[in-house]
Amino acid sequence: MPKIFICLLFSCTLFASEISVQVLGSGGPEGGERASSSYLIKKDGKAIALIDFGGGAFLRFNQAKAKIEDLQILMFTHLHIDHVVELPALIKAGYFSPRGCMLKIIGPTGNHYFPGLNEYIELQFGKKGAYRYMSDILSSHSESFSLKSYEVKKEKDFNFLGLHIKAVQVNHGIVPAVAYRVEIDDKVIVFSGDTSARSETLTRLSQNADILIAHHAIPEHGYEEARKLHMTPSHIAEIAKKAKVKTLLLSHRMHRTLGLEKEHQALMSHIYKGTILWAEDLMKIKVP
Ligand SMILES: [Zn+2]
Ligand SMILES: [Zn+2]
Repeated sequence: MPKIFICLLFSCTLFASEISVQVLGSGGPEGGERASSSYLIKKDGKAIALIDFGGGAFLRFNQAKAKIEDLQILMFTHLHIDHVVELPALIKAGYFSPRGCMLKIIGPTGNHYFPGLNEYIELQFGKKGAYRYMSDILSSHSESFSLKSYEVKKEKDFNFLGLHIKAVQVNHGIVPAVAYRVEIDDKVIVFSGDTSARSETLTRLSQNADILIAHHAIPEHGYEEARKLHMTPSHIAEIAKKAKVKTLLLSHRMHRTLGLEKEHQALMSHIYKGTILWAEDLMKIKVP
């Protein structure tokens, strides 16, 4: 099938209406029975957006019956290994798929400690990259499909085939990180990624969201160093309350928080009166 026809098929699927979020990875970086951070947005059962792609997410992607040829956009919150490491597996699989359209990827700009998304992609698929045998993927004359990356420095808006995405830089210690607000068919889904949310940025981004997926990576007390990177449960609840979020989905469930769910839910419910859900791999939530 000619590439142009395949691309038109994508735009023709935009008038259907059931929007859902599916968790591919609900865990942190330590391993265990949960995959690391990854989520899908589905429209009428088709995976159209992929957010993060940590360890184990490629298997979950397949278990969720997602197809690379249906993806309109991939968003990386940051380049910590537990959020991005399975990208090459996805790209390799894509080579064998019917995908012809360019795959767009959004991610953070770099700093002294981390490459930006453009350099990160180049380090893997560029002419001197580790997977240089697939460097064709960065050329517009690619035999299969091509990749195009977009870096977010402070704040940027994107419109792709009915998806409106607001990407905003958030604090995650020394790591350049981005949170995303995705608007589709009047539904709003916000992905905090890993962040300490020490400014009001995440609260502003989450205003009236149908679902806020927040990373529950530390207990309420202790872990002083980790607090520079992550939000405490009470801080997450305060943000959800101030932003009038309808449903709060707690993910990135690190080992140090497992077993504390009951205690944290009680603490958070005291502050935030909306629905609180705990993420599990492959859990699917229809956005009302
Ligand atoms: Zn993480
Ligand atoms: Zn992180």
